[in-house]
Amino acid sequence: MSDLARQLFGDVPAKRLALIVDLDDTVCTSFACPLRAALDVLLRVHRQRVEVHYVTARTEVSREGTDRFIMEHKLPGYRNVHYCPKWQAPRRHKAELHARLAREYQVIASIGDLDEEEGEASRLAGVTFVLVDRDNPGAAWAAVAQLIEAAQGFCVEGVS
Ligand SMILES: [Mg+2]
Repeated sequence: MSDLARQLFGDVPAKRLALIVDLDDTVCTSFACPLRAALDVLLRVHRQRVEVHYVTARTEVSREGTDRFIMEHKLPGYRNVHYCPKWQAPRRHKAELHARLAREYQVIASIGDLDEEEGEASRLAGVTFVLVDRDNPGAAWAAVAQLIEAAQGFCVEGVS
């Protein structure tokens, strides 16, 4: 920001932190079978500091089951499930959402199992992407945990 802009508008407040998360084969398998590694990380996220956004190829048809899954496991970001419009290709949907979220937030990372969808969307939006290996999802979640830790996005024990 130029000195003139700072004089006119003051310091621009820092954007809020966000984490972009795919659902299928990233947080769960077979629609509602949770991946322990994902839950372990997501449940430690400091909810006031980091907004979790789910960007999914699921459509509105899956809303009820998705809501139930998120509530059942007490996951953060209950209100932030971005369903794919029926008329739109998942790739395009994910690209648009990543671009929008990258404008509105300081995105810590995007995590997902499809490089050609969320991976490509992340690169276009300038967001750090962590690819989930379906045979070993724990590794990707450990990498994301490090990024969240670095952004001070976890709850610290003894501090509310
Ligand atoms: Mg997926």
